[in-house]
Amino acid sequence: MPESSAESTRRVLILGGTTEARALAGFLAASGDWWPVTALAGRTDGPRRPPGDLRTGGFGGPDGLAAYLADTGPVAVIDATHPFAARMGANAARACAVVGVPLLRLERSGWTADPDAGDRWTRVPDEAAAARAVAGAGSVFLALGRQALAPFAGLDETARVVVRSVDPLGPDTPLPCAVPIVARGPFDEADEAALLRDHGVTVLVCRDSGGADGRAKLMAARSLGVSVVMIDRPPRPKGVPAVHDGTAALAWLAGLAGLGSRRALAGPGPLAYHPRHDAGDGEQDG
Ligand code: NAP
Repeated sequence: MPESSAESTRRVLILGGTTEARALAGFLAASGDWWPVTALAGRTDGPRRPPGDLRTGGFGGPDGLAAYLADTGPVAVIDATHPFAARMGANAARACAVVGVPLLRLERSGWTADPDAGDRWTRVPDEAAAARAVAGAGSVFLALGRQALAPFAGLDETARVVVRSVDPLGPDTPLPCAVPIVARGPFDEADEAALLRDHGVTVLVCRDSGGADGRAKLMAARSLGVSVVMIDRPPRPKGVPAVHDGTAALAWLAGLAGLGSRRALAGPGPLAYHPRHDAGDGEQDG
C-alpha cells in the first residue's frame, strides 16, 4: 500500500540509466515539490548515486512494474531511459496504463546529417540492416558497444572490423577477428579522428543515441570523408507524451499537479542542464 507520509504524495519514479535521468533527479530534488525515486537496471557496478531514492534491478516485466507502482504510489513516472532501451519503455507504457499513473518520456534529441557540410550518412532501421549495408566495405568501425554485435557475425572474415567497447569483448564474441579497442568515453573529435585514420576506417556504424559527446565521432567522420551508417532509434509506445529536457519535464509535472505556470516556467534555474556522457547504468555506445 502507498505510504501515508507527505513524501509519498510527491514521489516521482524516474526510469534511469542516463545522464538526463540523473539531471532530472537533481532538478526534482532541488524543486522541493517532488521526491525523485530513480530505478536503475543494475547493469553497472557502483553507478553514481542520483539525488533522492534509488532502487536497483528489474521489476519483473510490465506486471512487476504495475505491482510496484500500485505498492509505492508515485504521482507520475518519467521514462528517462536510453533511446535504445526500448523494452523498458514498452513495459512502462503498459504498467502505467494498467495502474493509471501518468507517464512522460524524457529523451534527448537525435542527430541530423548535414550533407552540405560533408556528412555522408545512410539511415537504417536496425543492426541487421546495418550489417547488410556494410557487407563488402573495406574497414568498418562498429561504435556500438559489445551487446549489439551479433548481427555483424562473420563481417570480420571479409572486412577489417574495429570494435570499441567499455569492457573487453570476451571469448564468445561474434567477431573474434575484429580489432578490439577497450575505452570509456567521452571522446573528443581529435581522438576520434586519430582512431579513424589509424585504422583506415571507411565506414562508421553507430546508433542515433544523440547527445553532445557521441557527436565527436560524427564530426571526425565528416572531416575525413568517412561514410556513416546510422541506426535509427527503435519505436516507442504510441500515445506517451515526450519532452527533450528537464525543464519541460518539470513543466509537465507542474501541470499535472496544478502548480501553475510560474514555477514551471522558471525551470531548474541554476541547475542548468548540461548533458554529459552516459556515465550511469548501462553499456555506452562504442
Ligand atoms: P531494455 O532492453 O529496455 O530493458 C531490459 C530490461 O532491463 C527491462 O525489461 C527491465 O527489466 C530492465 N530495465 C531496463 N531499464 C531499467 C531501469 N531504468 N530500471 C529498472 N529496470 C530496468 O534496457 P537496456 O537497453 O538493457 O538498458 C538497461 C539500462 O541501461 C537502462 O536503464 C538504460 O537507460 C541504460 N542504458 C542503455 C543503453 C543502451 O544502449 N541500450 C545505453 C546507456 C544506458 P524488467 O523487465 O525485469 O523490469
